[in-house]
Amino acid sequence: MTVDAQQRGLVLVVEDEPAIADLVRLYLSRDGFGVHLERDGAAGLAAARRLRPVACVLDISLPGLAGTEVCRRLREGGDWTPVIFLTARDDEVDRIVGLELGADDYVTKPFSPRELVARVRAVLRRTAGVPAGTDRPRVVGAVILDPARRTVTADGAPVQLTSTEFDLLAHLMARPGRVFTREELLAGVWGYAAHAGTRTVDVHVAQVRAKLGAAGVIRTHRGVGYAADG
Ligand code: CA
Repeated sequence: MTVDAQQRGLVLVVEDEPAIADLVRLYLSRDGFGVHLERDGAAGLAAARRLRPVACVLDISLPGLAGTEVCRRLREGGDWTPVIFLTARDDEVDRIVGLELGADDYVTKPFSPRELVARVRAVLRRTAGVPAGTDRPRVVGAVILDPARRTVTADGAPVQLTSTEFDLLAHLMARPGRVFTREELLAGVWGYAAHAGTRTVDVHVAQVRAKLGAAGVIRTHRGVGYAADG
């Protein structure tokens, strides 16, 4: 089932519907990714630990171990490999992102395989780091964000953020006081247009706030968007 990892690295795909799995593998391979395919959650978790892929594409509804549980166990083990979920229902989205599973993105079935590939590329682009010259630590209130090390502390204590949460906070903290609309944040942080709906932004902001606790620096501008304190 394994294709040699190519120049973009190996992506683990865990999907039990063969037609979807084959399509995803085809499109990722064409784009230069190596692809390893598993069809159930337990095998997927084992493969993630064994193969150390650059990203995981996890179906939610899998035999044995659900995709959400695979992700949860990876995170519990300190593995923050980017995870993109495949969901069958749009109303699963809040649950996925809201459960502190550390999801980086999701697509809702039926999805375009091209769109999924674009999401994988976007999440890898984001986790690859920041352009030179923009990597000085940013300080807002009691929160310190270090773009080079991709670490955040609040009141001196380390805060564990997903890569998407980190990038959202980094985007806001790069220009304290500047109010970003949800559409701007989707384009600037997620790297694609607002077709997914702005709820994604709200849910991720809520997660970052929960993790920063009392040190929270993200302010809501009602009817407009969000800003870091400035
Ligand atoms: Ca399934």
